[in-house]
Amino acid sequence: MVEPSPYRVAIVGAGPAGLFTAQHLVRQQQVPVLIDIFDRLPTPFGLLRYGVAPDHTSIRSVARALAHTFDSTRVRFLGTVELGRDLTRRGLVEAYDAVVYAVGASGDLMLRVPGEELPGSGSARQFVAWYGGHPDAAPQSLHGVRSVACVGVGNVAVDVARILAKDPAQLAATDMPETVLAELTASAVTDIWIIGRRGPQYASYTTRELRELLTTPGLAVTIEDGAGEVAGTADDNTAEQAGLDRRTRANIEALREAAARPDPVPVRRRLHFLFWHRPVALHGAARVERLELERTTLGPDGAVIPAGAVPGGGTRTIPVDLVLRAIGYRSTRLPDVPFDDARGVIPNREGRVLDTDGRALPGEYVTGWIKRGATGVIGTNKADAAQTVAHLLEDLPTLPRHPADPLVELRLHGVDPTTYDDWLAIDAAEIARGAALGRPRVKINAWAELMRLCRSGDPDACPDSTLY
Ligand code: NAP
Repeated sequence: MVEPSPYRVAIVGAGPAGLFTAQHLVRQQQVPVLIDIFDRLPTPFGLLRYGVAPDHTSIRSVARALAHTFDSTRVRFLGTVELGRDLTRRGLVEAYDAVVYAVGASGDLMLRVPGEELPGSGSARQFVAWYGGHPDAAPQSLHGVRSVACVGVGNVAVDVARILAKDPAQLAATDMPETVLAELTASAVTDIWIIGRRGPQYASYTTRELRELLTTPGLAVTIEDGAGEVAGTADDNTAEQAGLDRRTRANIEALREAAARPDPVPVRRRLHFLFWHRPVALHGAARVERLELERTTLGPDGAVIPAGAVPGGGTRTIPVDLVLRAIGYRSTRLPDVPFDDARGVIPNREGRVLDTDGRALPGEYVTGWIKRGATGVIGTNKADAAQTVAHLLEDLPTLPRHPADPLVELRLHGVDPTTYDDWLAIDAAEIARGAALGRPRVKINAWAELMRLCRSGDPDACPDSTLY
């Protein structure tokens, strides 16, 4: 029997969702496949490189494991290629047997309160991108910043608070760019607020991350509101407290321990948890100076409502110089690809992309945050990708074939991708820079420098069909 020629699969996005997809495709024996992984950056790994906090080095082992995907001679990395700018959806769909969208969530949510546009108000996503060394991140200034509010009680708020709270000597052991390390080292932040619009029993951070923050050396912790739930004495929502899951109980226990601890000597930073409050306005003359918060409670339907009518309700204003909203990420529309604006995802049935009539679009798939919304941890993408890949493999034999190497056609249209070898040149330069400074690595965050390193390699190393 003649072996079928390999199917050609394009994955758009070289972050964890895209790389788990490639890993599943490479590991299966059912159908022969050749895989092109596109990314708009010259560096693979997406959120693993730019979203995981720089001091979370253990998760980097996931990146190392996923990097092995590129060892396969059936996988190519095609960097600096952006869907919508360098390629159209139609071009991609016509060139490959199947396409998987795995672009994650590059947008974020707004608070939609007055004053949000003031300087000194921004998104935690941008702040994370800055300290993570993303080449598109705007530089952040902590000059004159003493009090910072992180709005939201998820892992992003906890990450940002920890980075702001940490001793710079510890941050030097990370791969942060030098400019970022210098800014954080010079920071005179004294107070960090974490603000939850509901109580501690509803917080979405994970216990490990919370405990890590609470035990940051030199950090004093106070529970400004929500202390009743933490101490187990709150008379509101007690019915719900009784049925708390393990993670939530562990979170509350961690807060209880931290609040009961004597302050460290000396106190480097003070962390204030303010539950049951939500922002109603940001105030300031030329930049943010104060954050006005409204005390909240839960309505009969579980919705967050003002607690104005109950004792202790009303508003409270805290002095702040920087407000970072950490209220969730959101995927953005890919040009010409179906998108559900309300949910911020590509409409899909278990990873098969759906058109506006709810019919599966042949050969188009989705995985990761743009499939299910910005939920879960890095590892969640593994099972998510497995589901998408299972459907893709099931469909492949029924799809029209595109046996020619798509790269030839793409090149004719001016697409000039960077390669995995280019990434290895960046990788080596970052490690060398780190070694010169006694650090494990120093990330390069300037586009010009990244591109110079990409083009410095062997020109024959440009990806072509022989690289499979
Ligand atoms: P998240 O976990 O969805 O938390 C968002 C927080 O913002 C919630 O506390 C939410 O409160 C609050 N919020 C939403 N809208 C609000 C509003 N209008 N006003 C006030 N508060 C509002 O989001 P995230 O922290 O951005 O994290 C995104 C994803 O990345 C999560 O899956 C997270 O686990 C993951 N992540 C993981 C790690 C890690 O594993 N170390 C690190 C970073 C990120 P309600 O609950 O009341 O809606």
